Amino acid sequence: MTTIGVLALQGDFLEHASALRRIGADAREVRSAEQLRALGGLIIPGGESTTFGRLMADFHLHEPLQVFVQSGIPAWGTCAGMIALARHTSDLPFPTLEAIDIAVDRNAYGRQVDSFEADLDVPALGAEPFHAVFIRAPVVTSAGEGVEVLATVQHDGEPQTPVAVRQGVVLATSFHPELTRDDRFHQYFLDIVRSQSRTSAAK
Ligand code: GLN
Repeated sequence: MTTIGVLALQGDFLEHASALRRIGADAREVRSAEQLRALGGLIIPGGESTTFGRLMADFHLHEPLQVFVQSGIPAWGTCAGMIALARHTSDLPFPTLEAIDIAVDRNAYGRQVDSFEADLDVPALGAEPFHAVFIRAPVVTSAGEGVEVLATVQHDGEPQTPVAVRQGVVLATSFHPELTRDDRFHQYFLDIVRSQSRTSAAK
């Protein structure tokens, strides 16, 4: 069975683990560098990126996580997890993991009261729209050439902005698929993990 780690320092890691189990993957909570061994992929959940940064430093996890997510093993960050994986973020007193070539602006869709939901067109998941929950989400302000935009949103009359992006085996979403019962993003990530495991096994 494919084992996917979920960073479990803080935030909604339990919801990610449940979604993974619903689709038949093995989910393992990760709180130490040793627990990163032998994983097929890693999810960094939603939560609070300032707290992640502090706990990553306290648990001596920043460097092992950075090595892991830059090594060609699939990784996916949702909301605060997207911030953690970004190349650059506004307003965070900790370094990010620099696994995907995007710059993000924290909390830029508005404050807590401005959390919102939207039905997204995500061609990679099929014709059915994906109901997305945004909670104090980061705005992607720039994406490098190697970054594929899987979905965009238009909020409050602002221009369309990317909300689901992928670069190679690294995926990032501004919203929280783990808070809905639609598991298509988890399945999409599991497919990336499985095809990557096959490629590495063939080498
Ligand atoms: N606003 C949070 C941050 O900047 C992210 C919120 C979330 O993950 N739902 O870290």
